[in-house]
Amino acid sequence: MAPTDNPHEPFGIDYAPAPESTAVVNIAKTYGHFINGDFVEPSSGATFPTVNPATETHLANIADGSAEDVDRAVAAARAAFEGPWGQMPGSERGKYLFRIARQLQERSREFAVLETMDGGKPIKESRDLDLPLSAAWFFYYAGWADKLEYAFPNRSVAPHGVAGQIVPWNFPLMMAAWKLAPALAAGNTVVLKPAETTPLTALLLADVLQNIDLPPGVVNIVTGAGATGAAIVDHRGIDKLAFTGSTEVGKAIQRAASARRIPLTLELGGKAAHIVFEDSAIDQAVEGVVTGIYSNQGHVCCAGSRLLVEESIADSFVERLRRRISTLRLGDPLDKNTDVGAINSADQLQRITDMVATGVSEGADLFQPECDLPDKGYWFPPSVFTGVQQSHTVAREEIFGPVLTVQTFRTAEEAVEKANNTPYGLSAGIWTEKGSKILWMTEKLRAGVVWANTYNQFDPASPFGGYKESGFGREGGMHGLAPYLHERADLTGGGA
Ligand code: NDP
Repeated sequence: MAPTDNPHEPFGIDYAPAPESTAVVNIAKTYGHFINGDFVEPSSGATFPTVNPATETHLANIADGSAEDVDRAVAAARAAFEGPWGQMPGSERGKYLFRIARQLQERSREFAVLETMDGGKPIKESRDLDLPLSAAWFFYYAGWADKLEYAFPNRSVAPHGVAGQIVPWNFPLMMAAWKLAPALAAGNTVVLKPAETTPLTALLLADVLQNIDLPPGVVNIVTGAGATGAAIVDHRGIDKLAFTGSTEVGKAIQRAASARRIPLTLELGGKAAHIVFEDSAIDQAVEGVVTGIYSNQGHVCCAGSRLLVEESIADSFVERLRRRISTLRLGDPLDKNTDVGAINSADQLQRITDMVATGVSEGADLFQPECDLPDKGYWFPPSVFTGVQQSHTVAREEIFGPVLTVQTFRTAEEAVEKANNTPYGLSAGIWTEKGSKILWMTEKLRAGVVWANTYNQFDPASPFGGYKESGFGREGGMHGLAPYLHERADLTGGGA
């Protein structure tokens, strides 16, 4: 068979469509808040729609949370903390977490399809990353629930009480799992707010919590937009706050938390450098760079959005990158062959479109492969900017979309300097065959996570978090447990 010019069909063959069936999910018309173990109507009666960003079809009406709803949720969480959950030994708490983890595994297809329908990410990502990691997080922290005295030896620790947790739309279930699992293992109760555009998997999780007979009030889920999140932040009954989202909102939350002197964890934006040396395994590096920026349409706080490539290989590397990007399959997120799904919302699409227009007007060279964007839904093609200066907006600001900038360097020192030249400090990637270079670089890079010869690897035992404007506090591992505990004034018992 003769090769063709079409990168999608180099041998004149194409993938057959392989859409995952949506029959496995059962979406209600309307959802209330999940408070004290039951779904309840919002006090105002107001709802807002959630849509499928790939088709713009309406999925469900979601309760719009008011300060009154948040108050109800905090009261339920307080009662559970002072009641059954607060009295329960850690070994019993752990059993509930194990049950959540097992149910997530058993119902993983249902959760993955729902996540993809509500958020637009490719099914292969929600199926192979979001769900396994969400379950893993609960399994991991279930194991710590009765071992707090070993996690923090010679210290007497106790849970804070009621934790307020606000999560974003890029990994809706996974971010909820990253926050809920350590909070519950440590013995706190929770009021959680999912993002406005992606509330459905958190609400399906509420169904799991009912199925496993989690005591009412231990986890409460109040849906809504930014004002609902602000009502949680401002509620006097909240003892601990955890937030993942934009740096701008994170700063406002920090002001509120510091005024009330309550502990806070912030996981904010990023502008990670992905550094490729000429001695690296080039094809693997291309693949790593592609995964680093185009997975989840670039809606990833630790996305490797700034490629720094050694000058000697820059031209050939960019050429390979362009060829690889031209083979990415953009389209129906429910299709198992899809690499690039839909942009999460019309607002986010507008933000990305504006940023890319700014990049062009400031003089960077834009490359986008030829690809047909579906007529309906929110789509943006994978994009690469070359000819990028450090002063360009696209090199400095988080785009949170499938857009990579390329800059070059001549020495490792220059690479470090360019990588650290950002207000963020969440993650970085290094590609080289020299172990010594990796160790030298990781010491110098101001990034909470540094991946070497790989990218976007996560494990519940491994702490994740940032420096500078990427936030503070860690999620994962024992480091992720600590923010949900405080040292007891008295020295009796281990807190487990
Ligand atoms: P936000 O920071 O606005 O949203 C994150 C969460 O906080 C959502 O649940 C949101 O609710 C809630 N929220 C919004 N305003 C407030 C407030 N004043 N007080 C308390 N909670 C609030 O991010 P966006 O979704 O608007 O995205 C904007 C940009 O943020 C993106 O372009 C990206 O750069 C960055 N971002 C970074 C993320 C990360 O993982 N680091 C994740 C998401 C976004 P609601 O969604 O209902 O408005």
